[in-house]
Amino acid sequence: MNNAWQETLDHGNVLLIDGAMGTELQKRGVPMDKVAWSGAAVLTHPDTVRETHEDYIRAGARVIVTNTFGSTRQMLEPAGYGDQVEAVHRGAVNLARRARDNVADQSVAIAGSISTEPPAFDRNAFLPREKELAAYREAAGLLADAGVDLIALEMINDTTHASLAMRAALETGLPIWLGVGCKRRADGKIVSFDHADLELVTILDELIPMGPTLVNIMHSAIDAVPPAIQLVRKRWAGPVGVYPESGYFTKPNWNFVDIISPADLAAEAIGWVAAGAQLLGGCCGTSPDHIRALQAALPALEDVRNV
Ligand SMILES: [Zn+2]
Repeated sequence: MNNAWQETLDHGNVLLIDGAMGTELQKRGVPMDKVAWSGAAVLTHPDTVRETHEDYIRAGARVIVTNTFGSTRQMLEPAGYGDQVEAVHRGAVNLARRARDNVADQSVAIAGSISTEPPAFDRNAFLPREKELAAYREAAGLLADAGVDLIALEMINDTTHASLAMRAALETGLPIWLGVGCKRRADGKIVSFDHADLELVTILDELIPMGPTLVNIMHSAIDAVPPAIQLVRKRWAGPVGVYPESGYFTKPNWNFVDIISPADLAAEAIGWVAAGAQLLGGCCGTSPDHIRALQAALPALEDVRNV
């Protein structure tokens, strides 16, 4: 198991992860499935997935996230890939490992992504509770068995489904990254990215006591990040990460509109690190250039940590 990422955090240093996978695949010509989004790309476009990982590693990422965000049985079965759930998870980890073998010149860990997204992002289409839990257990078990170093729960934006995914992930015994998505409501409250009536603090207060290793503010609006860091740090003494989104989604495609420039992301990151963030990367809309800019800013980011 690769624990260098944990040592970096334990020493108080900044850890860079990768940027977007799904939207980057779209940008590179991979069609997004209407039901499973990027979930099947491991089967249909393996070389593009591997090359994207390689580009992130070259840019400076020390953790890469498997292309399994849309790969639970909950998403793959209604997309017509129900008999390939295992192949997708094992394939995704293998592509990440091959990318690392091909280009890494420093320690790179592999995080297995699991989301609680329902098929076609339709919140009326979740599996019945027992089957949903079984789908998360299947995904977590396959990722663990395939050798990921940790599990990254992504797009956690409620408590009902998130608690099932968290339970399944914890059962593997691997370190768990809790990734919450949030945005700023008109009244200034920080709320779930997908549920404007659900405050971020409600999600944090339910999920943090379950025992993550790290809390990420991911796929979040950039203006929501500073207050979200404060809300997390009031409840969580462990490491905090930030990997925001930029642009907007029109199912099943990302709109690359007003994407934050790599230089601006690096400039924002100085403030996030000053506020206590230690892990940095990008979510939907970001590309290897964003990670390269963070890598170039690493000495300045480390200086902020050491103030
Ligand atoms: Zn995202």
